[in-house]
Parts: sequence; C-alpha cells; structure tokens
Amino acid sequence: MSVSPFRYPSTAHVRRHGPAGYSTYQQFRPWLRDEFCFRCVYCLRREVWAFQDSDFELDHDVARSIAPELCRDYTNLVYACHNCNKRKGSKRLPSVSDVAYGACMEVATSGTSVGEIHALNDDGVRLIDELSLDGEKITATRRRYIEMIRSLEKNDRPLFLVWMGFPEGLPDLLGVHPQPVSNSLPAGILQSWFAKKMRGALPEIFE
Ligand SMILES: [Zn+2]
Repeated sequence: MSVSPFRYPSTAHVRRHGPAGYSTYQQFRPWLRDEFCFRCVYCLRREVWAFQDSDFELDHDVARSIAPELCRDYTNLVYACHNCNKRKGSKRLPSVSDVAYGACMEVATSGTSVGEIHALNDDGVRLIDELSLDGEKITATRRRYIEMIRSLEKNDRPLFLVWMGFPEGLPDLLGVHPQPVSNSLPAGILQSWFAKKMRGALPEIFE
C-alpha cells in the first residue's frame, strides 16, 4: 500500500498526556499538538501544509456551551483545523477517543475516485455530513495532495519528507511555560515527538 496522508487511525485515540490545572484551555495547545500529531483530527490537514499557526485550533469535544465545566478538561480537547472546528460548532460528534475514525470513513487512494471520502458506518456518515468532508473543494484538494505526495515520493525525496514529515519546532513539553499544575501521565513526555527527536528516534514521516 502506498503512502497516503489521509489514512484515518485504525484505533480509537488513547491519551498519551494528562496535563491539568491550566487557567485557560489555550494553554493546552503544545500538549494537543503533540497528542494529535500536528494535524486536524477530523480532516487530517497538517500543520506543515498551513499558512499560519492560527489555521489550527483547540476544539472541545463536548462544546463549552453544553458542558462549561469541561472547558479546561484536557480529555475534552482535540486538535482541529479552523474550518472543521467552525463546522462542528457545538454539535456532539463521534469522538476520536471513543471510536476508530479509520473504521468510520476512508479516503480512496487509487482508481478514478482518488480523494473521495466514503463512510464505513453510521458514525462515518455523521462525521462526513456534519463536517462536510465530502465537499467538492475538499475532495479535489485531497486528490491533489495525494497525487503530489505520490509524485514527490518517487521523484523528490527531500521534498516528500517535508510534506509528509514533522513541523519544525516540536514542542518540548518539559520546557513549556507555564507548566501544568499536575500531569496524570508524566511518562507520556518521554513518548513525545520532541523527546523522540532528541534521542534520534523521530520517524522521517508520519501517516
Ligand atoms: Zn480539519
């Protein structure tokens, strides 16, 4: 199977980090960037493809208007692009922590339907519908990315690594300021992408 930037995870997301005690939910940003591998959990758009940092936001799984008490609960936050966050609004969608998105939907990587997204179950139907993941524009853009990355993989390895690799400036979670008041999963820091890079174990690309 050839490389694709639009392969949804085959398992539900298990939290690697457990920071708590921040005064604003925005302070969880470096943790969520690392947690969700620098891409939108919904459409899989990557930071390295973005024009600016503000293209990515922190989305509340259960909206603040519905559960204000979960506003600064790390387990209620995911990393999402501005567009998906806006479309989701206050809706409650199947959570990446509860279901494997890869079992809900898949993006075609071959044949005439390259770039098209298809639901695999009812959760997938809801996700695709509510987030408009099957719009004409997003579908065409996914096709272009898949075809470009495939071409780079064959013809321009250094550039391929840029488009499929990690962003510069990975967050050093031991060094972020402010530090959280507590962290229920401190061992996760050793598994952070920054820590992997420091010990020479960062993969060249991620899918
Ligand atoms: Zn998105």
